[in-house]
Amino acid sequence: MRYDDSDQATELAERARELMDEVVLPLERSRAGGVTASSGTVADLREAAREYGVYAPQIAEEYGGMGASFRDALPAFEEAGRSLLGPVAMRVDAPDEGNMHTLEMFGTETQKETYLEPLVEGEIASGFSMTEPIQGAGSDPKMIRTTAERDGDEWVIDGHKWWTTQGVEADVLIVLARTDEDAHPYEGCSLFLVPADADGVDVVRNIPHTGGGIRGVSHAEIRYDGVRVPDEHLLGERNQGFVHAQERLGPARLTHCMRYSGMAGRALEIAKAYTSEREGFGSTLSEKGSIRHRVADAETRLHMARTAIRDAADRIAAGGEARVPVSMCKVFTANVAQETIDLAVQCCGANGIGKDLPLSDFYESVRQFRLVDGADEVHRRVIARAAFEDVDEAELEPITRFGQPSR
Ligand SMILES: Cc1cc2nc3c(=O)[nH]c(=O)nc-3n(C[C@H](O)[C@H](O)[C@H](O)COP(=O)(O)OP(=O)(O)OC[C@H]3O[C@@H](n4cnc5c(N)ncnc54)[C@H](O)[C@@H]3O)c2cc1C
Repeated sequence: MRYDDSDQATELAERARELMDEVVLPLERSRAGGVTASSGTVADLREAAREYGVYAPQIAEEYGGMGASFRDALPAFEEAGRSLLGPVAMRVDAPDEGNMHTLEMFGTETQKETYLEPLVEGEIASGFSMTEPIQGAGSDPKMIRTTAERDGDEWVIDGHKWWTTQGVEADVLIVLARTDEDAHPYEGCSLFLVPADADGVDVVRNIPHTGGGIRGVSHAEIRYDGVRVPDEHLLGERNQGFVHAQERLGPARLTHCMRYSGMAGRALEIAKAYTSEREGFGSTLSEKGSIRHRVADAETRLHMARTAIRDAADRIAAGGEARVPVSMCKVFTANVAQETIDLAVQCCGANGIGKDLPLSDFYESVRQFRLVDGADEVHRRVIARAAFEDVDEAELEPITRFGQPSR
């Protein structure tokens, strides 16, 4: 299927597909059995991504990337998503990708030199600490309880976060904290760059969880106990933390959508290969009408997701308001990807949950997408708010109300 992508985007995606087909997928297949990739393997994959000209395409050249625009880099994210090893190879992996984007948008030159450039190089790792244990920030981020108080030219951070992806391995954590208790949280929070080895940062544990697979990734519970950072560690503007977080999350949700549509597309490829070879009840499974129709529906819905993601990205690129289209993409793609991967598991029988194929890793991974970066219900809330904004009362003029004369 061809999309309305620029020449640069198409060429980038083609090179990404070559990297995936020639390097990443063969490696993934050779490691069947669910073995987590070592740091050496990751380094080799990143070297290969550089050779194929697809390493960190979304980052400006001056910071070590390729300087493609967000919209042009997006199709390559889908290619990367075809394996759990693809995003890490191409350095388009969450959460570093979103954190690098945040640093690129709001970081000072010193912050970029200290954190962005080593992140792009893959020399360090990062985490984004926003969610807190109950009754702190979660689906309702206004409930944030972590604070940062000014003391001279330093900030003192006190709080408790969890589900900080890659928090165990992170060298630097981007922490959202309240900096003005009197203001509405949306106008009274700020982002801070906190070195993971700062006094008072306690990585309590990697929360046991499903997902991760061959890539392996932590989700950390972290306590911030009187953590002192200098003023220069404020990321972006004071009290604009939520605004900056939204500016991070909009594009990050679309890149997630592209990676997961790539994963769902690959799952479908595996299902089509399996059902084309496997015979039962007098024919290959791929000749059964029920399977053909479900695959056709999955292909259709994936195409709709890819089209909608590009539409939202175009709006962001044009500087327009994309909150509702992004929420629509997030809910729709997360559900389509989950249903598609579930279908692929079903089509492959026991092999669907075996570890020889990547499907069971995909199955575990995709479930989180309906929760991270806002649960389905939170995005439906945004969509519904817009949907009910402009109700036309004239539509009900013909209806008789209780006690009124009939027409
Ligand atoms: C794999 C994974 C990685 C994550 N990585 C990070 C990270 O790196 N950094 C970070 O800060 N956070 C991270 N998170 C946290 C994630 O952003 C939160 O889990 C998410 O925002 C939901 O918050 P919560 O878990 O507190 O759910 P809660 O707020 O307790 O909500 C529970 C459920 O209630 C439902 N719900 C919520 N609001 C409504 C409503 N208005 N109407 C109806 N139903 C509703 C939803 O189904 C929701 O799932 C991660 C989570 C996961 C699972």
